[in-house]
Amino acid sequence: MTAKIIDGQALANTIIKELGPQILELKAAGRAPHLVAVQVGENAASRVYVRNQEKCCQEAGVSYTLLELPAETTTEALTARIEQLNADPKVTGIILQMPLPQGLNAREMQWRIAPLKDVEGMNPANMGYVVYGRPRLAPCTAMAVFELVKFSGTEIKGAEVCLVGHSEIVGKPATMLLLDAFGTTTTCHIATRDVKSHTKLADILIVAVGKAGLIKADMIKPGATVIDVGINRVNVLDAAGQPVLDDKGKPKKKTVGDVEFEAACQVAGAITPVPGGVGQVTTAILLRNTVAAARLQAQA
Ligand code: NAD
Repeated sequence: MTAKIIDGQALANTIIKELGPQILELKAAGRAPHLVAVQVGENAASRVYVRNQEKCCQEAGVSYTLLELPAETTTEALTARIEQLNADPKVTGIILQMPLPQGLNAREMQWRIAPLKDVEGMNPANMGYVVYGRPRLAPCTAMAVFELVKFSGTEIKGAEVCLVGHSEIVGKPATMLLLDAFGTTTTCHIATRDVKSHTKLADILIVAVGKAGLIKADMIKPGATVIDVGINRVNVLDAAGQPVLDDKGKPKKKTVGDVEFEAACQVAGAITPVPGGVGQVTTAILLRNTVAAARLQAQA
């Protein structure tokens, strides 16, 4: 079997296109969505996310502001900035770029964001709506996973669903979303004794760990739908298994997921590529949440 490749970019484009009329409506009502990203200190990976967010917002006609704060920013100073943004009626969405410098508690800082401006869906109130089966502003990557499964055409109702990874941003909320769609969910994590015994049974396999090559082809049920959330930077290897060097003599790098992609393609029925899968859809969901947040504030 050769798996169908689930095209994250195509789904992202559809999601963004559908937002067009809502964005125009909000602008006409003087409630234009405006997303503010707060970046504390410098981080190369975070820069890439910021660029993608900005591009996505620009293309959709949504205002985007990057607020850069020094790495020495204290908890009190960051709290004060977040409270200012919470109180500013011209700001409809706030995202706190991760990772934060050491000394700042990421979750506590995210929880300071007003629930109706929390476009990443990390506030306990928004997480609560996910648990109640009424997602309002759901965590973006978990929702991206859910949308990708639906987009693949795989029936969730009655399916055996295995999630590997139980983080707050992906594994736990994705479990809730798939459970609520009547999947029979199993969530594996670092203490799971035999991950393969669970993944082998899954009609739908979601992997969100951050370990390249964790999921091998023999861990996948033939015909399964596989959503690979992992993002890992690894060396490019030559035919002899040696690192390929760049012009400066440094190992060339590439981005891969947590699933051994080529081998998995021979077993799975459908699979997301990395890059080109979950990442694109996550950014589109961030935009969808930004629009939803502006609408919620307009109704409040
Ligand atoms: P995390 O570190 O918060 O959680 C990792 C999870 O994996 C934990 O539940 C842990 O128990 C589990 N785990 C670790 N080793 C394991 C093992 N050997 N077997 C089974 N479970 C194991 O990670 P996260 O923030 O959820 O991110 C996971 C991955 O997804 C990372 O690679 C991250 O970069 C990527 N990610 C991608 C996007 C995207 O938009 N594409 C968004 C968020 C995260």
